[in-house]
Amino acid sequence: IVQFKSISKSFDELEVMKDFTLDVDPGEIVSIIGPSGSGKTTIIRMLMTLEKPTGGDIIVEGENLWKMESKGKLVPADERHLRKVRSNVGMVFQHFNLFPHMTILRNCTEAPIHVLGLSKKEAETRAKEMLEKVGLGDKVDNYPMQLSGGQQQRVAIARALVMQPKVMLFDEPTSALDPELVGEVLEVIKDLAQQGDMSMILVTHEMDFAWQVSDRIVFIADGQLVEHGKPSEVLDNPKSDRLRNFLERFR
Ligand code: ATP
Repeated sequence: IVQFKSISKSFDELEVMKDFTLDVDPGEIVSIIGPSGSGKTTIIRMLMTLEKPTGGDIIVEGENLWKMESKGKLVPADERHLRKVRSNVGMVFQHFNLFPHMTILRNCTEAPIHVLGLSKKEAETRAKEMLEKVGLGDKVDNYPMQLSGGQQQRVAIARALVMQPKVMLFDEPTSALDPELVGEVLEVIKDLAQQGDMSMILVTHEMDFAWQVSDRIVFIADGQLVEHGKPSEVLDNPKSDRLRNFLERFR
């Protein structure tokens, strides 16, 4: 459903990704692990179309996101496809990014109303269902400030689910949380993973969690894919010194 083909990415002089290639199948759960600064967030942001690659192809549902203009500049290959991708890809950030002045329910109905064109009633029905799913059906009228960090992150997950995305991206969804709140968020993500109908790409430092939920683990370092495979292969039998050294830190 998602393909990165020989992606390179530079920020001015700084080369962040080099010849990065990755295919994610429909329904597949892929966790990306790697040292700080290795380019994990950049991969997620490129898929959200928030960043353009410097070279290579990003293909979503068989269509390229960008094409090269004559002057070597990347432009949207097809505006309609780009818009479709934006509404088909759900994202959960490290910091929950909820609107503080809106109730939990409204936080979850803004996008379906304005992007999908649902009626307020339809959007609210969907939002309530998703809030139930993440265990927050009783918080619809509260404001983000009245919720714990773990609850706010569960709202952010519900907000993404309301759009019925085909792909969900999670960028270190628990790294801003107090340790005692991490478990409840991971449980929600685990439940979603078990449903098996969405592809998920997770950037995480929670190795036990990655082991449990992932179909595949991808280790990147210096903007390159170094190793990938089943959790048991990558986490239990690392082949490269780089991965071995990286994993040592989590033991
Ligand atoms: P972390 O685990 O610390 O979040 P990461 O693997 O997600 O790291 P990225 O955030 O993708 O790494 O960043 C990769 C590199 O690109 C870093 O060196 C970072 O400083 C640089 N970088 C990211 N975004 C920008 C930007 N907008 N402008 C300049 N440099 C950037």
